[in-house]
Amino acid sequence: MPVKALLCPKTEKEIPFQEAPMHFERMGIMQAETVQAMIDNENQHRRMGTSLSPSIMDPSTNCRREIAIKKFLDYLLNPLDMWEANEGTIWHASSRAAGAKVPGWDREILIPDPDVASHVENPAFKWDERGVAHLEIFPGILCNGMIDGLSDDHRIIKDLKTKRYPYLRSGKDATPREYGISEDWVTQLNVYRRMVEIVYFGGEEGNVEELRLWRQYRGSRRKDLTHKCFGRTVDADGVEHDESVPILTNEELEFRIREHCNTTTAWLNRCLVAKANAERTGEDPVPHIIKVIEEIPMDGLPMFRGQKCHQWCSVNKICYSMANLATF
Ligand code: SF4
Repeated sequence: MPVKALLCPKTEKEIPFQEAPMHFERMGIMQAETVQAMIDNENQHRRMGTSLSPSIMDPSTNCRREIAIKKFLDYLLNPLDMWEANEGTIWHASSRAAGAKVPGWDREILIPDPDVASHVENPAFKWDERGVAHLEIFPGILCNGMIDGLSDDHRIIKDLKTKRYPYLRSGKDATPREYGISEDWVTQLNVYRRMVEIVYFGGEEGNVEELRLWRQYRGSRRKDLTHKCFGRTVDADGVEHDESVPILTNEELEFRIREHCNTTTAWLNRCLVAKANAERTGEDPVPHIIKVIEEIPMDGLPMFRGQKCHQWCSVNKICYSMANLATF
């Protein structure tokens, strides 16, 4: 499941993944390589099973209904609609792939990595029923994820976020609006921190010393503002500055994510049961899964000042038609 094929905006036909890159290239809609990158990205999410990735653990930006739809219902995506969400991912991947590994740093570290014996031997390591590996970061909260950068001593975690260039005020005071560190980024980086401490420090708190976040603006002509480090830096006079992402205690982190993760996991498990029951009796599981999803609150409605549903949700048409609301 989730994305089963792409939707061509010109022919309005369903295009299977294998044919999609060349179809969109031939139709002059989108470069084949870009389409392929988006398909690969979607497939990555598909492997996640019922566990939650660190980026969807913060309740302030993540809609439980969206998570369930993406994991349990087949849907078609128009790559032009997907582009907004994928632009940052692709920028991110290409900048990482462009250079050799930097000494002292590892990049793209999968946690837990089923090919690393010490991860597998860790009591927090769990396999799910589909054979996907997870780390139990708090009792009953399973996750897996990819960390952008980790220092060799495992004490500094690095993450990259890209943003569209923000609003510029007109006139002489053409100062870009700055994005500070958002709370969902704090949550995400602290989940990474917890994962690293479980895997490399036996779960002992206080071993990761810095959560460093690089914010890059896409499309900015202000080269002095494009790259911003929220970390520990030194200025030209040798004075040290610390703008790093706050490190939460385990208790604070668990308090932030516990309810959202518990209820999301409970809804996902209900979807799994509905699917399994229907399959056992030879019925089509989709109506049974939809029945469960219809009960999941529409968390996205008030998010981002009401913009989340129509700007940032790729399953909004499915969700709105379930709720008998006018679609976008
Ligand atoms: S349309 Fe809004 S409420 Fe519905 S799944 Fe998407 S984010 Fe959630």
